[in-house]
Amino acid sequence: MKRNRKAKILATLGPASSSRETIENIFKAGCDVFRLNFSHGSIEIHRQNLEWIRQLEEKYNHATCILADLQGPKLRVGEFENTEEILQKGQKFTLDTSSKLGDNKRVAFPHAEIYDHLSPNTTLLINDGRIRLQVLEQNKDSLITEVLNDGVISNNKGVNIPDVILPIDSLTSKDKADLQKALEMNVDWVALSFVQQAEDINKLKKIVDGKALVMAKIEKPSAVKNIDEIIQAADGIMIARGDLGVEMPTEKVPIAQKNIIKRCRHYGKPVVVATQMLESMISNLVPTRAEASDVANAIYDGTDAVMLSGESAMGNYPLESVSTMDSIIENVEKDKNNFNLEIEDEENIKKIDNTDAITNAAYSIAKNAGAKAIITFSVSGKTTLRMARERAPVQIIGLSPNIKTSRKMQIVWGVNSCHSVQDAENTTEMVKIACRIAKNKKLVDADDNVIITAGVPFGNAGSTNLLRIAKIIADKDLT
Ligand code: PGA
Ligand code: MN
Repeated sequence: MKRNRKAKILATLGPASSSRETIENIFKAGCDVFRLNFSHGSIEIHRQNLEWIRQLEEKYNHATCILADLQGPKLRVGEFENTEEILQKGQKFTLDTSSKLGDNKRVAFPHAEIYDHLSPNTTLLINDGRIRLQVLEQNKDSLITEVLNDGVISNNKGVNIPDVILPIDSLTSKDKADLQKALEMNVDWVALSFVQQAEDINKLKKIVDGKALVMAKIEKPSAVKNIDEIIQAADGIMIARGDLGVEMPTEKVPIAQKNIIKRCRHYGKPVVVATQMLESMISNLVPTRAEASDVANAIYDGTDAVMLSGESAMGNYPLESVSTMDSIIENVEKDKNNFNLEIEDEENIKKIDNTDAITNAAYSIAKNAGAKAIITFSVSGKTTLRMARERAPVQIIGLSPNIKTSRKMQIVWGVNSCHSVQDAENTTEMVKIACRIAKNKKLVDADDNVIITAGVPFGNAGSTNLLRIAKIIADKDLT
């Protein structure tokens, strides 16, 4: 399957899209990565969705990519007798450890382990900051608060406490159980919510043990502060603007977004801009102008991918949301201003390794010799990632004999990630395989020049040292 764009689209599955038909339709409309959100939905539903997604691989001859998103230590209030209550500015409201249903005076907040850290004056933000509570009195099993603004509070709403570093494990027991299930399902990426420091990612990576790549969701001010260490520890980053915009002032989010994209591009780690990108499409067939601009600007900044959440998970127009995003990206990428994406990277100039020497050269040859594609033959995907980092204005065909690598690389900017069933024994064979796949998938035409990178001897991950220019020949495999 060939997409007519470089930046990628992630779509979250949910009640609006958990059917074989919708999954296939949003895949055809442009979804490159499916997100299974473990904050919602049962394991059975995730497993069923995953099977439907994987079935597309054979039908479309296209590696599929699946991201399991772990809820992380998200704090929530309990449930109410009447589902919701209207709270008024100035009134008192108690959060406590009782399991009784809530009312206008109190509700359960079953996180006793953090009560100690919520001293008077701490602000708690409920339901994405729509209601703010200030702690007046802190007890062992209750917190008495003052309501700072009128608003509605309802069942299981999230609670953010931005000012306090909470001594809670970044992987809750639910996350650990979900993670085991996700790994058994053989997902490609695992994302962790509410990461605060690189250590959170290192702990997760120990458990994941190479079975999937790990993405850090940046949604806490502490994560923004520790961003360089987190990017280095993780395999990818998600700018989770929903919670980030609650935890820090909204006007700081665009600045954080630009900076995080820049840092990720410096390190060559894929980055995803997420949340409320086409929010109004949950109920409308067309996006607002501001939303179209938001998606477009993320692309101009050079993000690897943009993500749909509620729009595809529980909105009325999952399919239209994906095709709208697809067409915004395509249009931006036709604008010549979009190809000022080359990285200015003084920091790296001195420590260039073989892989970067090859990918740099591939870029300049592609540009000067008019090649149609750069084919990165890469077992681990490392060269493919480094190639994408260059943001070359030609397609990258990421070729791997390892299907898991092919799936994982589908999230990366500009990469058409292909699986080669046949592994190469020598260079001649590798060139044949690369040209045949590119030609059969109609990614290139006869007489096109392609550039191929690889590492010899074969089978040694991380040893890219070869660059070939080849011409696609009409009827034969060979070049
Ligand atoms: P969530 O993460 O959808 O899991 O909350 C994204 C965000 O907070 O933006
Ligand atoms: Mn979040």
